[in-house]
Amino acid sequence: MDPWTAIDRSTIWPYVDGRPGEFSYARDGHPTGEAAEAALGALDDGHALLFSSGLAAAAGVLLGLLHHGQTVALARDAYYGVGLLVDDLGRWGLRRVDFDQAGEPPPGADLVWVEAPSNPLLTFPDLEAVTAHAAPVIVDATASTPVYLKPLEHGADLVLHSATKFLGGHHDLLLGVVVCRGQEDHERLLEFRTRTGAIATPDAAALLLRSLQTLEVRVERQSASALELARRLAEHSAVEVVRYPGLEPDPLAARFMDGGFGGLLSFDVRGDALAVERSVSLIANATSLGGVRSTLESRRRWEGERVPEGLLRLSVGLEDVDALWADLEQALAAA
Ligand code: PLP
Repeated sequence: MDPWTAIDRSTIWPYVDGRPGEFSYARDGHPTGEAAEAALGALDDGHALLFSSGLAAAAGVLLGLLHHGQTVALARDAYYGVGLLVDDLGRWGLRRVDFDQAGEPPPGADLVWVEAPSNPLLTFPDLEAVTAHAAPVIVDATASTPVYLKPLEHGADLVLHSATKFLGGHHDLLLGVVVCRGQEDHERLLEFRTRTGAIATPDAAALLLRSLQTLEVRVERQSASALELARRLAEHSAVEVVRYPGLEPDPLAARFMDGGFGGLLSFDVRGDALAVERSVSLIANATSLGGVRSTLESRRRWEGERVPEGLLRLSVGLEDVDALWADLEQALAAA
């Protein structure tokens, strides 16, 4: 669909000669969603399906593809919301085993779940080791985006993005996408999505189509600014640790990412992280990531002791990099 094509908000389309045509009821699929799925499928070189959020997409994969009593090998550093979801599904017989994604997944798992790079610890999976496992592999590539990582090319079976983040890019839409290597997984997930009704709205799909036109240029600038800020933060006396795959750089990330390392980083301050987050002004003290406006927050409030007390997550937007640094420097004075 061209970006200037009108959004089709219909929930029904008349039958053709008494039979359902290409579209009949919007819970099954709609033209705006399919146009966005075609664009997303082309980016990751697979069959894409949109869901109403990243976690709806994750729930679709877990419930749609696994059975009672099966086990997910979950990267210990994966987004904490996925861990909470897997635990909740324990009531329905889903089992969880955690592992270090820099190494091999444990034997006996029925699905391997990794994140590249992880939010907010920025660790990278060994995609060669995980795809050598017998079970299907899903890579949450929200932070790398298809601009820098195409997991299906590295042997993964499924890719997940919270399209709410870099793909959407403007903090104005909530969407998730699963891109499948195989037609069979795609058909099963489409069937399950129709049964559960976790489809994206046409408006969100249209906003995503708008955003995809600028994805590459946005992410390249975010990535360049993130590298520069990571370097400057690493030199700052109030900063203990900087986590960014492009700093050093991380050998696993360097092996699998192509052309850049993305716009997400985290760092630990030596003093009061909450005072630092309250002191930013150009950067929004807000949750989420991937937008044109930079965001920063302490992750302790959400993730508890899973993350260091001094950890601040920074998602780098499109602001001038020197202006971002000036804001960080004055905020760090409050540490
Ligand atoms: N995966 C990652 C890496 C995330 O950061 C998030 C949200 O922060 C999700 C999945 C869930 O996405 P959503 O918030 O769109 O449900």
